[in-house]
Amino acid sequence: MSDEILKERGERYGEFFGHAAITQQLKESMYDSPNWKGLYYDQREALEMIVHKIGRILNGDPNYADSWTDIIGYARLVEKRLLNETAIQTKLLKLCDQCKISVGRMGDICCDCLHLNNIKWP
Ligand SMILES: [Zn+2]
Repeated sequence: MSDEILKERGERYGEFFGHAAITQQLKESMYDSPNWKGLYYDQREALEMIVHKIGRILNGDPNYADSWTDIIGYARLVEKRLLNETAIQTKLLKLCDQCKISVGRMGDICCDCLHLNNIKWP
């Protein structure tokens, strides 16, 4: 990446050091949250990308419309997947034996009640 492009981005998004600090703090909060490990990969990635864009808004030009558009875009990807879940995907959504809340695709320990479910992932 040329110095010219870096300078241009710096003016739009602010200093990268400040952006990195904001974004990393937000990500650490997400990783520490109760539901993080139970999220699907696309949900995790979308949230990380959204936080990246939030960091740019908070550290740089908040009136740069593309940053807001990108946030909508990543949220929309997850929304579309959830609304268009095929019959196969629906079958993959397992409910916790104990609390009947979704356990998620990543493991067999319930995020809500910590019950160890006996789930056979295909
Ligand atoms: Zn449970």
